[in-house]
Amino acid sequence: MPIADKMVKMVESASMIRKMFEEGARLKEKYGADNVFDFSLGNPDVPPPPVVKQTLLELINNKNTSHGYMSNPGYPHVRQAVADYLNKEFNVGLTQDLVVMTVGAAGALNDTLRALLNPGEDILVPAPYFVGYNQYAFVANANLKTAPSRPDFHLDLAAIQAAITENTRVMLINSPNNPTGVVYTREELEGLGKLLEVASQRFGKRIYLISDEPYRKIVYGVEVPSVFDVYPHTIMLTSYSKELSLAGERIGYLAIHPKAEDAAMIAGAAGVTNTMMYVNAPALFQQVVGKLQGVTVDVGIYQKRRDMFCQGLSAAGYEFDVPEGAFYLFPKSPIENDIEFVNILKEQHILAVPGVAFGGPGFFRLSYAVPEKTILGSFEGFKRAMDRVK
Ligand code: PLP
Repeated sequence: MPIADKMVKMVESASMIRKMFEEGARLKEKYGADNVFDFSLGNPDVPPPPVVKQTLLELINNKNTSHGYMSNPGYPHVRQAVADYLNKEFNVGLTQDLVVMTVGAAGALNDTLRALLNPGEDILVPAPYFVGYNQYAFVANANLKTAPSRPDFHLDLAAIQAAITENTRVMLINSPNNPTGVVYTREELEGLGKLLEVASQRFGKRIYLISDEPYRKIVYGVEVPSVFDVYPHTIMLTSYSKELSLAGERIGYLAIHPKAEDAAMIAGAAGVTNTMMYVNAPALFQQVVGKLQGVTVDVGIYQKRRDMFCQGLSAAGYEFDVPEGAFYLFPKSPIENDIEFVNILKEQHILAVPGVAFGGPGFFRLSYAVPEKTILGSFEGFKRAMDRVK
């Protein structure tokens, strides 16, 4: 085998996803893009706020704008801008040395996991979960372990407690959640914080909480509680991929609670892993986001689509919890086998992702980062697919 043995499985699962894209492209070619309803991708289509382009142009036209290497964790003035913003939002006393600018949330996850985990240690994540975690765990030489969530996809604290062992180094959560759209409440996060403290004492080993929050700003009338309030040994990470619709520009950061055990050492290690993988986050977009703290896309656009989609699916007989955040719906598959149902949807030219891909069998994921006409045009197909299995 010309490639590393350990890569074979990873390439196979990547090629499954590629096949799905290829199938989508084939359907679009055959039936016309307007007749295929593609809800498979979480790629934001809402335009970035106009101030993004304006800031970019100002930076490009300014001869003092830097395009060279900088301190590997990022420009100090940008990290300071992020720390100031987070202090204003969460009153946490962050300093810029505890912030690392990264290549998106994926970069921040890779940095943090590789900084914290010894080979063979466990990352615990509530299922269902974002598929990328499998790859980041692989790169960190760690095991991804799951704990089931409650039927409403909120945290099942008893299940989490039962799943923690002496091998657990990291608890990884994601709220608002991909794929379920759930936003964890302050009470459940407080419960999680207490539980992690007790488990850390019990096993004589600090368990760190990583909170993956790229959808923090994409919420509909609810607030996302601060994880910094519930457990000091926390690393919060995020990106501008969704909140500024800059997914392709690859810019994000991680921030370590100042009271986290060995916070400075973790920041140093995350800075070094950042350097080893990518050298530094993109220079131009660091400078853009440094000037745009607190700016967000028009969330009303996503909310309108969510409401429209929920109404149509409900009328077609689908069951789901109305998501409070992110831009995904996670309906129950009307038949037990979600892969089979996704294939039935495909016959109606509707593309969805089976829940089993997220560790959530029996459900399927629909992304509404798509134009309204795609949502409206799909309802007949959803009805026909339901009628077929009823
Ligand atoms: N975490 C979650 C839950 C995501 O859904 C995504 C992307 O979809 C990422 C991390 C990666 O985000 P980024 O594109 O900013 O690296």
